[in-house]
Amino acid sequence: MTQNAIEIQGLQKTYQSGRNAPEKNALKGIDLDVLAGSIFGLLGPNGAGKSTMINIMAGLVRKSRGSVRIWGFDQDENPRQSRAAIGVMPQELNLDPFFTPRGALEVQAGLYGVPKSQRNSDEILDMVGLTDKAEAYARTLSGGMRRRLLLGKALVHAPQILVLDEPTAGVDIELRQMLWANIRKLNAERGMTIILTTHYLEEAEEMCDEIAIINQGSLVARDSTANLLRQMDAKCLVIYPMEPPKTLPSAKNIHVTRRNDGALAIAYHANETTAENALSAVRDAGIAIRDVKTEQADLEDVFLKLTRSA
Ligand code: ADP
Ligand code: MG
Repeated sequence: MTQNAIEIQGLQKTYQSGRNAPEKNALKGIDLDVLAGSIFGLLGPNGAGKSTMINIMAGLVRKSRGSVRIWGFDQDENPRQSRAAIGVMPQELNLDPFFTPRGALEVQAGLYGVPKSQRNSDEILDMVGLTDKAEAYARTLSGGMRRRLLLGKALVHAPQILVLDEPTAGVDIELRQMLWANIRKLNAERGMTIILTTHYLEEAEEMCDEIAIINQGSLVARDSTANLLRQMDAKCLVIYPMEPPKTLPSAKNIHVTRRNDGALAIAYHANETTAENALSAVRDAGIAIRDVKTEQADLEDVFLKLTRSA
């Protein structure tokens, strides 16, 4: 048994988009290991290189440089084994409109050389909640159903590693919960290693044991979710005053801005000061509070912080 599901070293990707178009360095030398059995989050803003990385792991995009080992198999030396160990749910809803869900699963199983006797289309259809749509044409399926079918397709060859590229971008809450339930189940019951990309920090926070953050083709952070969140201790206390304040609160380690809706946004770092101190600064400024809420740091803040300190 390998301990790392994925081992990536010095990974680079340069896209040549056209004869006279400039080259695009989408990945600038990435080293990354993913522990077998974990749920791993690959985070980054749009254009960071997440899909490129995932598609390289899956053997769908050719790398320019570096080495990639999937489940212990070097991608260049053992392309067949390394492909067989990984299943991908892509970001794009690329489904053949003329296949039914059952047909699409059977074709996919055929592509991966799964013998008829070992196929489990019924079980997969059941898992992704498409049993009653098994014989419907893909073009009649809703966006959510298509996404579920893509998850099913990623599972036909029972891969050890499941990779999901922005599985919940733009999906409704019900589907999101179903996808998460499925992912947790695959991880807990089959020990499947899960790698997913997302730009929702809360989602990564809730689901992932470990997180890597990439920005403009480079790795800017790689840690356990708990450690990373400890770093991301930026908080914001939003105060709605009874009346427009004459003076703004001020104190050490808080930064106050006035918002268009009349609210006062008090930014601080949890390791430097407390909400109590921020609130006393408000009281000291003679401001009566009508309402108050807190805002967590979002991924945007985290990026600013990480790219500034890098
Ligand atoms: P992400 O998934 O993090 O949004 P991508 O991996 O899709 O990022 O893209 C990384 C960068 O590579 C972007 O600047 C994107 O425009 C560029 N890129 C992606 N695919 C291609 C391609 N086929 N040809 C040229 N450039 C591409
Ligand atoms: Mg992408």
